[in-house]
Order: sequence, then structure tokens, then C-alpha cells
Amino acid sequence: MVKSQLSVNPIRAFNDNYIWLISNVQSKDVVLVDPGDADVCIQHLTANHLNLAAILITHHHKDHTGGIKKLKAAYPNISIYGPARENIDGLTDKLSEADQVAICALGISFNIIDVPGHTAGHIAYYHPEMLFCGDTLFSGGCGRLFEGTAEQMATSLNKLAKLPPQTPVYCTHEYTLANLNFALKIEPNNQVLADYHNKVTELRQQDLITLPSNIGHELAVNPFLRCDSPEVINTAKANTEQPLTNQAEIFAVIRRLKDNA
Ligand SMILES: [Zn+2]
Repeated sequence: MVKSQLSVNPIRAFNDNYIWLISNVQSKDVVLVDPGDADVCIQHLTANHLNLAAILITHHHKDHTGGIKKLKAAYPNISIYGPARENIDGLTDKLSEADQVAICALGISFNIIDVPGHTAGHIAYYHPEMLFCGDTLFSGGCGRLFEGTAEQMATSLNKLAKLPPQTPVYCTHEYTLANLNFALKIEPNNQVLADYHNKVTELRQQDLITLPSNIGHELAVNPFLRCDSPEVINTAKANTEQPLTNQAEIFAVIRRLKDNA
């Protein structure tokens, strides 16, 4: 197998955001994903003599888009990709499901997946070596339902769950430990989850990043991708009076419990 020339690294922003920087060892051109803060990005690019080629945006929230204007001023010729169904200033290319984005400078292309739920027009960027899913899928959790329904979010998560299990998952927040504390309440007998919780606790004690995760691992630990697991179903049933007839309804109960946790 040819070793990949691509790498993905985090730039920390705000309290717990990660702005992902995609690079190719053969080039000084890089791509930023969801740059909510331009200053930390410009600082990093300048210090490392990198050239910004493009920006990928997953959804309209300020902590994902706040840096667009300043980055565009500093790098006037860049392409700025984002969701077609959301109103975001500065986009040069508007994307939706089944679109493809080719970034020639890095020799990389992404398939676009519509993942509404957290916001109405949220998109994800998929390449076999990297999934950028914004605030849709987190390690051990998923985004809050600000604009979509539980059914929409369950459908969106199902699409991501069907990607190849080895796909690395680059989420945009360091929420893993809080998510796993909650997940253990939903599935206390999940040993893989308990082991992961221990590992993440150690990482966070040293202020280390817990990402990327991958799809296969999330299928084993993330209660929002495990609405077919008997323990998750039983926890959901114990927390509602309503009969639960499908996975989206189970998802809705678990999501509501997390909102109130
Ligand atoms: Zn968001």
C-alpha cells in the first residue's frame, strides 16, 4: 500500500473547538475546515510558511464560520466551500449531497453528504482517509438538534455509520469525555465503552486531544449510533411512557436525556 501523503492536524480555537488543517507533504498548500477564528489560523499558517488554498465549511454557526472574512482578506484567491442550504457570507461554492469537491493543490477530493439535524443544511465532507462532520457526529455523542428533528438527525447519523469502519472521524469539538460520561449511563455494561472512557480520561488529564475517532469505534461506543443495542433500547424504554417502535424514536429519547443531563 502506498503511504498517504496527506495529513490532518488540529488548530485549537475558543474553549474546545478544533479547526482542522489538511496538508500534503509534497506541497505548502493547505485546507482549513471550519475556521471559526481567523487569527489562530493566520498565526499557524505564517509560522509554518503555509499557503491557504481552500476552506471547507460544514454549517453556519459562528464558531465554524467566524474566520472566513479575515482569511479571505489575507488570502484573496481561495475557494470557500459550504452548504448550499445555509446562508453563509463569503462562500464561493455551494454544495449538497452527491456533489464532489476536488482540491487540486492537495490532490484530494471529497464527496458531500447532507447531514441535517444540528442545523437544517449541515453537510459533511468524506474522503476515505478523513471525514469532516462538523457538529453532527462527535466521539461518543452527536450534535444538539437546533434546527432539525430527531428523525432527520437519526437518518444523518445512519449515513455516516455506513461509511467504511476505518474512516477517521474529525469532529470539531473536544466533547469526548463529557459524551462518554453520559454514554456510560445509557450503556453501563458496554466494556469497550468503559475501556475507552478510561483512556480518554487519561488523555484529558494531560490536556491531550482525543480525536480523530473512526466509524468502527463509534459504532462500538457511541449510544447515538447504537439505537439497536438491547441495553440502549432498554434505557430508552425505562425513560419514556411512550411505546418505542423504531430506532429514530429511541434516538429521540436518548438525545432528550442528553439535553437534560
Ligand atoms: Zn454548530
